Amino acid sequence: MKELLDQAVQLLRAGRLVAFATETVYGLGADARSAEAVERIFLAKGRPSTNPLIVHVSGVAMAKVYARVWSNDARLLGRAFWPGPLTLVVPRHKSICKTVSAGRDTVGLRVPNHPMALELIYRFDGPIAAPSANRSTHVSPTTAQHVRDELGSAVDLVLDGGACAVGIESTVLDLTGAQPRILRPGAVTREQIERVIGRAVSSEPVRTDVNVPAS
Ligand code: AMP
Ligand code: MG
Repeated sequence: MKELLDQAVQLLRAGRLVAFATETVYGLGADARSAEAVERIFLAKGRPSTNPLIVHVSGVAMAKVYARVWSNDARLLGRAFWPGPLTLVVPRHKSICKTVSAGRDTVGLRVPNHPMALELIYRFDGPIAAPSANRSTHVSPTTAQHVRDELGSAVDLVLDGGACAVGIESTVLDLTGAQPRILRPGAVTREQIERVIGRAVSSEPVRTDVNVPAS
């Protein structure tokens, strides 16, 4: 495994794609600081470039490097739910390429609760953009074989971390507005989030430009 992880880090540094297990689904990873690398993800998935990607970090310390602002809500939620299936949308630091966020000035960050994903991020020592490792509109993969069947040679390496435990995607929570808002429901519930931050969370979809989906 050590050799494979080293190989994965080399590939990520070279701007290539590495799929890896998280506790939710398999992710298709690339260096979140490189527009060229991130573009490969959109191509491999056939994903519209208007749909932003989640960036995986190793912990709160790394999250604070790539968020321009780390609010009190972010602090409380990171402490309560990370590592785990909660993505926090926060102001994007300029070192994260725009392509990741589909041009927005925000970024969705999360810390995956899977030893292999965490080990990969530690060794790479940088943020990894990783949407689910399937073709756009297809079912999210929960095994390494599923990723290979789905993406074939479009992925440079698949790290096999066994079957994913959760199988449900992360909850995406927007912390950039006046009130926290759930953009995508997932494994962490609204009630759990409200209990931690001590205030109401909205889950109303907002009206958005058709070309720029909120999530
Ligand atoms: P996937 O990567 O396929 O698991 O999907 C990621 C989800 O997170 C999508 O619903 C995205 O729209 C959402 N997302 C990621 N980053 C942002 C962001 N900066 N703003 C709004 N939604 C985001
Ligand atoms: Mg997906």
